[in-house]
Amino acid sequence: TIQLSQVFKSYGDYPVLKDINAHVARGEVVVICGPSGSGKSTLIRTINRLEEISSGSITLDGRNIHAPMRTKELNALRSRIGFVFQNFNLFPHLSVVENVSMSPVRVKGVAPDVAHDKALKLLDRVGLADKAGAYPAQLSGGQQQRVAIARALAMEPPVMLFDEPTSALDPEMVGEVLTVMKSLAAEGMTMLCVTHEMGFAREVADRIWFIDAGQILETATPEAFFKNPQHPRAQRFLADLR
Ligand code: ATP
Ligand code: MG
Repeated sequence: TIQLSQVFKSYGDYPVLKDINAHVARGEVVVICGPSGSGKSTLIRTINRLEEISSGSITLDGRNIHAPMRTKELNALRSRIGFVFQNFNLFPHLSVVENVSMSPVRVKGVAPDVAHDKALKLLDRVGLADKAGAYPAQLSGGQQQRVAIARALAMEPPVMLFDEPTSALDPEMVGEVLTVMKSLAAEGMTMLCVTHEMGFAREVADRIWFIDAGQILETATPEAFFKNPQHPRAQRFLADLR
């Protein structure tokens, strides 16, 4: 589904991604882990072109996301890739249900009443049916993040990207967000997640990508990665977590 080939990216002279070659198959759940500053966010942001790359290619179902294209085309591509940020990024002046229904109406031309009904169904799915009329500021962090997931799902993307979706949450709210992510994975969603939740990685991931200093140093199943990491830097990373 997603193929990254010889991807390099620099900020000025500073190389952040160095020769990334990897793929995510349909229905696969990949967890990206690695030390702070290793390039995890940059990598995941290049996949929906929130960041440009210096060279290489990234394709989604065979289409090159980094090819020259018009804004309209890029927006259409982006709408096929759901993105959930650390800090929710909800629209504060819109109600919960409006946050979820807005993009299908504006970007996809879905009829407002149809989008509204669908938004209510999605809110029910993330356990927030009773919060449809609330505003983001009236919700807990965990609730806001579940709205953000519902909002991404409203576009019916074949792929979802998550960048540390639970890192900004109080510990007691982490579980409710991970539960939603687990149910998505169980339904066969293709997912690429940057997370420090190693329990989630162990339980849900099909593969782990370990990244350090802009390179993927190891890709492995969670069983292999946690029990028997091959790369010395991965061994050190896991030892430091314990
Ligand atoms: P963390 O775990 O702390 O979120 P990360 O693995 O997500 O880290 P990135 O945010 O991708 O790391 O950053 C990778 C490197 O690129 C870091 O050294 C960072 O300082 C640098 N960097 C990130 N964004 C920019 C930018 N806009 N301009 C210049 N350098 C940047
Ligand atoms: Mg990051």
